[in-house]
Amino acid sequence: MRSLSDLPLGNSTVALRCDFNVPLDSRGVITDDLRIRAALPTIEYLLAQSAKVVILSHLGRPKGQTVDALSLAPVAKRLAELLNRPVNFLASRDPAEVSRAVSEAPANSVTLLENVRFDPRETSKDPSEREALAREWAQWAEFFVSDGFGVVHRSQASVTEIAALVPSAAGLLVERESGVFAAILDAPARPSTVILGGSKVGDKLGVIESLLPRVDNLLIGGGMAYTFLLAQGKEVGQSLQQPDFVEDVRAFMAQATELGVRLLLPVDFVVADSFDAKAKTQIVSADSIPADWMGLDIGPLTRQEYADVIAQSATVVWNGPMGVFEMEPFAGGTLAIAQAMAESGAYTVIGGGDSAAAVRVLEVDETKFDHISTGGGASLEFLEGKSLPGLAVLKGQK
Ligand code: ADP
Ligand code: MG
Repeated sequence: MRSLSDLPLGNSTVALRCDFNVPLDSRGVITDDLRIRAALPTIEYLLAQSAKVVILSHLGRPKGQTVDALSLAPVAKRLAELLNRPVNFLASRDPAEVSRAVSEAPANSVTLLENVRFDPRETSKDPSEREALAREWAQWAEFFVSDGFGVVHRSQASVTEIAALVPSAAGLLVERESGVFAAILDAPARPSTVILGGSKVGDKLGVIESLLPRVDNLLIGGGMAYTFLLAQGKEVGQSLQQPDFVEDVRAFMAQATELGVRLLLPVDFVVADSFDAKAKTQIVSADSIPADWMGLDIGPLTRQEYADVIAQSATVVWNGPMGVFEMEPFAGGTLAIAQAMAESGAYTVIGGGDSAAAVRVLEVDETKFDHISTGGGASLEFLEGKSLPGLAVLKGQK
C-alpha cells in the first residue's frame, strides 16, 4: 500500500478523505469527536508539506439528498478548534464554485467540502455515476489521500473511484488501522484472545470462521451467546436467538475442539422479565434460564472467568458488548471486560463501533487500550479476511 511519503506532496492540492461521521445529539451537537481527532495527524502532516488540504467526508445517511441536519458545518467548527487554525467550510456543491474556491485557497490551508452523500452518485451502484462525481474532484486534486478507515470497505466515489483517478496513498490513520488488524490476523502475540459479543451471531459468523484457526481463546458474550446455548440443547427463554444459525455454531464448537482452541461460553447470566431498564432481574446459571425471562448480560462468574483469561493473554481483541450496556442494570458485564482489558499488560484492541462507544459511555480510561478502531464495519470485514475495496485500490489492484 502506498504511503504519504511515496507522494511528492509539497505545495500540492490534496483531496483528503476523512471519516467525520460523528454522533450528533438532537440539537446537532457533536457528542464524540474521536473520528475528528483521529484525522489530525494526517492533516498536520499535509500542512507541514505546505499542501492545500481539501477534505471530503460523509455524515450519516442522507441518501443522495441535501439534509440540513447532516451538514458538515459543525464538524468544520470542531476541526478548526482541534487544529487551532481556520477551516474554510464550503456549503456549495456546484463543481465550478468548488473548483474556484479550491484554486483561490492558499497553500497550507484546510477546506472542508459539504457532505459527499448529499450527491446520489457518491453511493451509486453504478460505477460510471460514481466515476463522474470523482472526476469533478479530480479537476482540482493533484493527489488523493485515503484516511477514512471507517469507509474503506465501501466502493464509493470518494473512496475508490477518486483513488483510481489521481495518484493516491493511504493516510496515517488508514495505515495504522490496517497495520493493527493485519498483525492480529498474521502474527498476534500469544496467547491471543478474541472476545465477541454484540447483538446477532449472524453478523459475526464470518469473523468467527476467520479467527477460529488463529486464536488461543475465543470468549463469547452478548446476544450471540444464546444461539450457542441453543446449539448445546439449552433453554434460552425469551433471549435473543437465531435458530437458523444453530448448525453453523455447532460446527464452530466442533472445530474449536479439533483445533484445541478454548471456546468459552457464559456460565451465568443477568436475566430480566422484560427488555427494560426497570425490569425485574435475577442472576441464573446457563442451565436454568427461566422460560419467560431474557438474558441481557453475562453474570458475575462469567465476568471473573473472562477477566482471568484476559489477564493471562498477550493479545486481546474485543468486538461487541457483553450485554445491553445502554441500560445501567445490564452494563456490568461489558464494564468488567473493558476494565480487565484496561488493566491487562496485553496488546489490547477494540474493533466494534458499539464496543468503542461503551468504553466511553462507561468512562473506562481510553488511553489504557493500545488501539480503538474508528471503523466498526471496516474492522470486522478486515478480520473476516476480506479484500477491502478502498485498500485494494491503494495497492493498485481493483
Ligand atoms: P459492535 O458495534 O461493537 O460490533 P454490535 O453492533 O454487534 O456491536 O452489537 C451491539 C448491540 O448489542 C448493543 O446495542 C447491545 O445492546 C446489544 N446486545 C448485547 N447483548 C445483548 C443481549 N443479551 N440481548 C440483546 N441485545 C444485546
Ligand atoms: Mg454496532
